[in-house]
Amino acid sequence: MTAVSPELRSVDDHLRRILTSIGPLADIEVNLLDAHGCVLAEDVVAEQPLPRFDNSAMDGYAVRVADVATASADHPVELPVIGDIAAGTGGRYVINPGLCARIMTGAPVPPGAEAVVPVEWTDGGIARVRIHRPASPGLHIRRAGEDVRAGDTVLRAGTTLGAAQLGLLAAIGRARVRVRPKPRVVVFSTGNELVDAAAVPGPAQIYESNSYALTAAARESGAMAFRVGIVPDDPVRLLSLIEEQLVRADLVITSGGVSAGAYDVVKEVLSRLGTVEFVRVAMQPGMPQGFGHVGPDKTPIFTLPGNPVSAFVSFEVFVRPAIQRMLGRERLYRPLVRATLLEPVRKTAGKRSYVRARLDVRDGTYVVAPVGGMGSHLVAALAQSNALIVLPEHASEVPAGVTVSVMVLERRQP
Ligand code: AMP
Ligand code: MG
Repeated sequence: MTAVSPELRSVDDHLRRILTSIGPLADIEVNLLDAHGCVLAEDVVAEQPLPRFDNSAMDGYAVRVADVATASADHPVELPVIGDIAAGTGGRYVINPGLCARIMTGAPVPPGAEAVVPVEWTDGGIARVRIHRPASPGLHIRRAGEDVRAGDTVLRAGTTLGAAQLGLLAAIGRARVRVRPKPRVVVFSTGNELVDAAAVPGPAQIYESNSYALTAAARESGAMAFRVGIVPDDPVRLLSLIEEQLVRADLVITSGGVSAGAYDVVKEVLSRLGTVEFVRVAMQPGMPQGFGHVGPDKTPIFTLPGNPVSAFVSFEVFVRPAIQRMLGRERLYRPLVRATLLEPVRKTAGKRSYVRARLDVRDGTYVVAPVGGMGSHLVAALAQSNALIVLPEHASEVPAGVTVSVMVLERRQP
C-alpha cells in the first residue's frame, strides 16, 4: 500500500514513464580500450584456441617421460641438452629419445617432449643436465585450448567490459568489438545567482555546484559527460544553448528553474515546446521534476530541481537508471539492502523520503544512521553519506531499531 498524496505523481510512476521512453543506444564497433565500461552488443566467439599452442608453464627442460623415469637424488639421470627454446622462439627442435632441450616459460613445447622438468629439479646444466626427479606425462605443460577452445563463446552480449574482459578479448586476438556506446550527457545549471567556483561572487551570488556534482555522477554511472556550466535565467539564452548542445548530446541534464518562482525559466521555456512535462513527484527531496524530449532527434532531457541535494537525489532516482538503460545494462538500479535504523527519522506522510545516511556493518549486520539535517541545501552531510535511506510514502515517524531499505551509493570511478 502506497499512500501517495493525490495531487502528486508517485516516484514509481514517474520512473516507469521515463524508462519506457528510453532505450539502449545503437551499437558500434570500437577499439578495445574505447570499449572499457561499455556493454557488449555481440556474443564473442574465439576463432583460435587459447593457449594457441602447447607451451611450458615453467623454466626447465623439455623431456621424454621414459628418459627420466629412474631419476632420483641419489641417481640423477644425465641428458644432453640439444638447445634453448626461449619464449617467442620454437620450431627448431624435436626431442628424440635420450635428449632434452632447455625451455623457458611460455615457449612452445617441442615435438617429442612429454613433460617439462623444472630447473629446480636439476643442476641447471647447459650442454648436459643432471635431473634428479621423474616427471609424469604433461607435467608443467599448458595445453593448447585448455583455457578456451576454438568456437567457444567467451563473452555474451550484455556483459559489461571491465579490465578482465578486455584482457580476455585481447588474449583471443580481438582488437575491436561491438558495444553500446556510452551516452554523451550534457550538463548545465540555470540561475542568475550562480558563479563558477573559480570566480568571485557578487554580494547575492553563490558558487555553482550542481553541474560539477551531476557531471561526476553521470560519469560514475558510466556515461561520457560534459559540463557546460552556468546559463542565466534568460529564455532566449537557454533555448539557444540547448539547441547548440544537442549536436553532442544523447541526454541533457539541467538543474534549477523548475519550481513555481517568477524566474523559473526552464519550466517556462520548455513547457511551451510541449515535449517536456513538468510534474510534482511524491518524494522528498526532489518534488519538482521535468522530463521529456527535445530537438530533431528527440533527445531526452531531465530538468532537475536546483537545490543541490534535490538535484543529487533526483539524479540517483531517475537519471541513473535511465543512463544504465541507454548503456544497455541489465541492472538499472543501485543495490538496496535492509539495515537497522540507529536513530529515529521524521518525514512527511504521502511522499517517499530519501535520507542521506551512513551505512555500516556492525556485528555482521547492516546498520544505518542519518547524517546532517533534512534541508535540501545541506551539501556537507551529503558528502559524508554513502547511502540513502528510502522511507515509504505512508510512513511519518520512523523509530530507531526498525529495519529500513537503504540504497547503497557505491562510488565507482569512470
Ligand atoms: P531553483 O530550483 O532554481 O529555484 O533553485 C533552488 C535553490 O537551489 C536556490 O537556492 C538556488 O540558488 C539553488 N541552486 C540552483 N542551482 C544551483 C546550482 N547549480 N548550484 C548550487 N545551488 C543551486
Ligand atoms: Mg533558479
